[in-house]
Amino acid sequence: MSDLVSKCGLNCGACPWGPNPRKGMSAEDFERYRKNAKQILGYMPIKTPCVTCQTPDAEIPKESKLPSRTCLIRQCVDKAGVANCAYCQSFPCDTLKETAAAWTREKIEAKLGAQISEEKYHLFVEPFEGIKRLAVIRASLKADEFVEPAKSPSSETRTVDFPKNLPLSKKEAASFKAVHNLLSKIELSSLGLSSTDTFAQQHKLENLRTQLLRFLWIFGNYGKFENTKSLHLVVDAETYLANRGTAKKLAIWSFVEDTVFKVLNEFGVCCERVAITGAKIEDLTTGTGYLRKKGWVISLSFKEKIGETEVLKAFQLYSQKLDEKFGKNAFKQFSNADMQFLTET
Ligand code: SF4
Ligand code: SF4
Repeated sequence: MSDLVSKCGLNCGACPWGPNPRKGMSAEDFERYRKNAKQILGYMPIKTPCVTCQTPDAEIPKESKLPSRTCLIRQCVDKAGVANCAYCQSFPCDTLKETAAAWTREKIEAKLGAQISEEKYHLFVEPFEGIKRLAVIRASLKADEFVEPAKSPSSETRTVDFPKNLPLSKKEAASFKAVHNLLSKIELSSLGLSSTDTFAQQHKLENLRTQLLRFLWIFGNYGKFENTKSLHLVVDAETYLANRGTAKKLAIWSFVEDTVFKVLNEFGVCCERVAITGAKIEDLTTGTGYLRKKGWVISLSFKEKIGETEVLKAFQLYSQKLDEKFGKNAFKQFSNADMQFLTET
């Protein structure tokens, strides 16, 4: 068990989430260990251990939260019929890098602004240096052991053309067109991902697209306008978390900050999480990195390149009209940038 390598190259045998390191610890020792992990990694290991990802699906107890049954890497490696990503010709793909290169000594020390001891490095960081571990395995493989990554056909992306003859003034129509452009660009973009014909990358792209559009939908449909330095839409914690639909990952703060905010910024959408008066930054997330239901709001505004204020107003009007007309099917129309119904009003 101590050398069990996960499909993405992590060391399941030494992983703080896995069954091994906690064996023989008293309850107090385990609590201290969890707190140390949180202090270094930002996350607290769960109390019920992961049964490790090389365990076949049929043997994972129903109540086990880990390994994740929806992990794209696990599925991709299984489809390729190999033990881990070291055998893959696309090594290391973006999906893999997001997991297996997220926690390295360099990144953790940069985040903490201090060096960590050798002991803490080996306990908490080294098990997660998956890319390094896989590179070593890879170097030992013969040419005929490498395999093609599992492929996946491109999912159908569908945007509806901007309608002609909208019963709106030229200025209003231009604002709706800018909203249409924004949603279409997100729908049709590869969102900075490469090799999107492979199983892992294709699914990562589909998931990310849905997550970004759902995030925007929350602001368009439930955001309230505030005008401090400039006009922006604000959503409170409870409303945000209650309206994620299937995009459950929008509750993970590191994903929102490192991926959602960054990718949307490329499209001219600026987002910021703001702690409400009296709330401490460290209290805005749970020990396992999830956004709490209170203590913060997120504000969203559009850069000049999209059209700022007028376009933001059109964005909200469009989302709310969609919701009024289509109810629970409205998000689908929003995802397709479908504005045809506006010709009927
Ligand atoms: S969380 Fe990942 S690395 Fe840790 S034991 Fe489970 S599968 Fe292995
Ligand atoms: S394509 Fe699949 S098997 Fe290849 S590196 Fe990425 S996740 Fe691993």
